[in-house]
Amino acid sequence: MRSAADRAGLDAAEPRMSQPRAAEARTGSGAAPRQPTGTRTTPGVATASPLGMLAAMPPPSSTPPNQGEPPIGGTPGEVAPGPVVRDRDDACPGALRLHTADDGKLARLRLPGGILTNRQVEALAVAAERYGDGHLGITSRGNAELRGIGDHCGNGLAELLRHTALLPSERHERVRNIVASPLAGLDGLGHGGLHSWLRELDALLCAQDWTTALSGRFLFALDDGRGDVTGLGGDVTLLAQGEGAALVRTGGAAPLRVAAADAPRAALAAARAFLAAADAAGTGAWRVRELPRGHEVDLAAALASAGIPAEPAPVPHTAPASAPRPGVAPGPDGTYAVLVAPVLGRVTGAQLRALAGPGGEVRITPWRGFVVPGFEERGAHERLEELGAAGFITGPGSPWSGVGACTGRPGCAKALADVRRDALPGSGGLPVYWSGCERRCGHPHGDWVDVTATADGRYTVTARSGMAEQQLPYAEGKLADTIGRARGGGR
Ligand code: SF4
Repeated sequence: MRSAADRAGLDAAEPRMSQPRAAEARTGSGAAPRQPTGTRTTPGVATASPLGMLAAMPPPSSTPPNQGEPPIGGTPGEVAPGPVVRDRDDACPGALRLHTADDGKLARLRLPGGILTNRQVEALAVAAERYGDGHLGITSRGNAELRGIGDHCGNGLAELLRHTALLPSERHERVRNIVASPLAGLDGLGHGGLHSWLRELDALLCAQDWTTALSGRFLFALDDGRGDVTGLGGDVTLLAQGEGAALVRTGGAAPLRVAAADAPRAALAAARAFLAAADAAGTGAWRVRELPRGHEVDLAAALASAGIPAEPAPVPHTAPASAPRPGVAPGPDGTYAVLVAPVLGRVTGAQLRALAGPGGEVRITPWRGFVVPGFEERGAHERLEELGAAGFITGPGSPWSGVGACTGRPGCAKALADVRRDALPGSGGLPVYWSGCERRCGHPHGDWVDVTATADGRYTVTARSGMAEQQLPYAEGKLADTIGRARGGGR
């Protein structure tokens, strides 16, 4: 029988350096987590319809910055809350620059558009099992993380990634931050597929020396026109418009209309203009929204300099960024895509392998889900059922649907709790996110329920809506009920 490495077309000579931990994939029935208690109260805070009250609330206290996979921060037009002065380069981990965590080294793998071939899916399963703790984490940018990597595994991991085209340029590996509409070209919405934009932008990024000056947090968002990733706060956003046109914008600035064929070059020119603006400002900005007033990106000049015809265009009205629902999505060509999500954003190697589909491709979404295209109708429903049996979330009725958690203990030294053990299934409603400390790494945006560990061994429950927040008091033993009420999911 061929080994997993052989199946991935990989060099099997590399010795295994760390043993995978016991597979912990949950099946949706719950994992008997410890019931946390919490009695922190906020005097005078009503407990009914928390999110409905938020609109009338005063501005919130500041939310600590997101220190994990960098935000998908905010919405177009959002500006940094104050002057941002950076005196160092960003420290984002990569495939080659590993971060040392309490549970071993951590690698973050940039996957432009979240798109993987079946062979790359197999390679990531091998990487998780051979070099990591047996799991692959999915980030809020549709990237992947390996944890628990042994001290001497970096070279082997890099070699495996090179073999499978997951590391096309070592110098550029941390700047290939591109999210894309995960259902582009599959369900008949939007203006078609994004593969050509993705390929061209990625190749352009990797072909230039100057692009290595972009921070590991700088984000490109490619939207097929439906508006799903436009709302994720990209530093440079391309929005397909149909009829051979596209909008390009930097941060929340007014967009310009360009020919769709010029869009990847326009995105690159916009990124270069950002670096020029950041250099002129001298504040070390990592992202467009960190530029101080008076140092905005001059997109029109950048496009003119690049020889790209452009004209002003109105700001598009798009729906709030939202995750595609798990299930089966029909396409206009008679094929079907299967949509699933992993419980708490992590999969085992075996679960990864179960995703490989007839279309030869698996897409990771910026909402920590997977899209598997290329099925006929019956096969799609059968695969959905199989993936449900393998522990994936397959529908909004799953008790783990909408539940997320940061790394927490034991992987994060800052964690006050093992949030992945404590996280509770629910009955739907708003997203709920469990954080091991007030940094709230990887939290959702928009309306969500924030469950954060405190130093006294408890959790606070806060309903958040944009910049508004409402902490909910609860009595001993009522944490689950309180979260359910905040989510509005029928508890
Ligand atoms: S405990 Fe969670 S939120 Fe806090 S720093 Fe660690 S990963 Fe981030």
